[in-house]
Amino acid sequence: MSTTRPASLPIAPAQPAAAGAARPSREGAASKPSTAFRESTYLKHLFGYEILGKPALRLQRWRDEQAIRAYEPKPTDVLSPPLVCVAQMKELMTRHYLEGRYASGVKKVAWVTSGAPAEILKAFGFFLVYPENHAALCGVRRKTEEIATEAENAGFSRDLCSYARTDLGTVLSGKTPVGRLPRPDLLLCCTNICQTVLYWYRNLADLFGVPLVLIDTPFLYGEAQPHQIEYVKRQIEGIIPVAEKVAGKALDEERFESVLQHARDAADLWLEVLNRSQNRPAPMTAFDGFIHMGPIVDLRGDAVTVEYYRRMLKELDARVAQGVGAVKDERYRVLWDNLPIWYRIGGFSKLLAQHGVNVVVSTYTYAWGELAPLIDPAKPLDSMAKVYLHPILNRSPADKLRVMRRMVKEFGLDGVILHSDRSCKPYSLGQIDERELLARELGLPALLLEADHSDPRAWADEQGNARLEAFVEMMEGRG
Ligand code: SF4
Repeated sequence: MSTTRPASLPIAPAQPAAAGAARPSREGAASKPSTAFRESTYLKHLFGYEILGKPALRLQRWRDEQAIRAYEPKPTDVLSPPLVCVAQMKELMTRHYLEGRYASGVKKVAWVTSGAPAEILKAFGFFLVYPENHAALCGVRRKTEEIATEAENAGFSRDLCSYARTDLGTVLSGKTPVGRLPRPDLLLCCTNICQTVLYWYRNLADLFGVPLVLIDTPFLYGEAQPHQIEYVKRQIEGIIPVAEKVAGKALDEERFESVLQHARDAADLWLEVLNRSQNRPAPMTAFDGFIHMGPIVDLRGDAVTVEYYRRMLKELDARVAQGVGAVKDERYRVLWDNLPIWYRIGGFSKLLAQHGVNVVVSTYTYAWGELAPLIDPAKPLDSMAKVYLHPILNRSPADKLRVMRRMVKEFGLDGVILHSDRSCKPYSLGQIDERELLARELGLPALLLEADHSDPRAWADEQGNARLEAFVEMMEGRG
C-alpha cells in the first residue's frame, strides 16, 4: 500500500499553514503556533462549537424526540417507531464530529483504530478520531464510492478494505460528510482486527508526518498465555512517553482510572442492551444495534456514554414490559455475522420485517460488550492488555463458531445470515465452513450474502434481495 505523497493535504491544519511551512517532525515536536493563530482557533471553537453548535444540536434533539413521540403508527408499518433515545444518539455523534471540526489547535488530536487501547489517550485529553467510524458514516450517507475513488485514483487498490480507501480518500481530497476532520498529532494503530490497519496507518504517518504508535497483538488460538499478555502490556506502556511528548504533559493516573471505569460501565450496559433481544418479541433489531453502537466505539471512556446506554436500557425495558417488539409481527429470529452493509441497513430491516423476520443479534455489535468483564480500572494496564488481545477478530474461527452456537441457544434463533464482506477478509474467513456446520449440527438455514460493508459497487440489489427472500422461504418451510 503506497502512493505518491501530495504537496499538501486538505485536512484541517494543526498549526498555521504558512506557504512552504515545514511539516511537523516525526517526533511530534511541532513548531509553536503564533498567539494570533491560537486566539483565532480558540474563538472559532468557542463560537462554532460551544456557543452556537451545542445549543443548536440540543434543540434539534428536542425536536426529533417530539417527532418520534408524536408519530401515529400506520396499519401498514412493519416496524415499531424508532426508540426515542435515537435522537440523543444523533446529538452525541453529531456533536462529536462538530467538536472535531474545531479541535485542531484547541486539543491534541489522535487518530486511532477501532480496536486500539484509546482509553490511555483519552486520559491525556486527546480528541479521538476513529477513521473506521467516519468511513461507516460515509457508507450510511452513500458517499463511499465518491470518496474511495479519490484514493483509487491516487493508486490505492480497490481490493483494499473500503474503510481504508474512504479514509485515505478523505485525507487526499478533504471530502467528508462531516464538514472537516481534524489533522492528527498522533496515530495509534492496533493489529488486533487485521493487518490492513498496519499499512493504512503507515501511510497516514507518512502523509501527515506525525508519530505512529503500533501495538502488535499475537493471534489467539486458545487461552491468552501470560507471556502474550505481558508482550501487549509492555507495548501499551510504550504509548505513555510518546503521548506525554505530544500532549506536553504527564499521564493523570486518576483520570486514566476514571476513563476506564466509564469504559467498563458503558460496555456492561451495552451488553445488557444487546441481551434484551433475548426476549420475545425482541425490543430492538441488530440493525438498531449497528446504529446505536456509535457511542461505545467513538465515545468509549466518556461519562455521557454510560448515561446514554442507561437511558436506552430503560426504554428497552419499557418495551419488554409492554410486549412491544421492534418487528411488529416477529415470527423468525436471525443472527447476523460480520459488519453491516451500511448503505442498506434501512432497506434490509424493512424487507425482512415484511416477512416477520427480526435480525435480533450480531457477532459484530457484541464485540464491544463481550469483553466488559475483562476491564478492571484498578489494574489499568494489565486489564487493557487482556481486553485488546481478545477482540473476536484476534481469536480463532473455532472461537467465533462457539460464540455463534451460544447465540443460537440464548436468542432462540431460526436462521443465520453470514455477510461475506469483500472488504473484511479476516471476518469473512471460515464462513463457508461455519455455514455448513451450523446447518448440519443445528439444522438452521444459513445464508452467505456477498457484499461490502460500505462500497455499494460490490452489491447487486436485485440478486441480493432475491437471495434474502429465498432464505426466508427456507425458514418458512421449516414451519
Ligand atoms: S479489513 Fe476488516 S477489520 Fe480491517 S479495517 Fe477493514 S473492516 Fe476493519
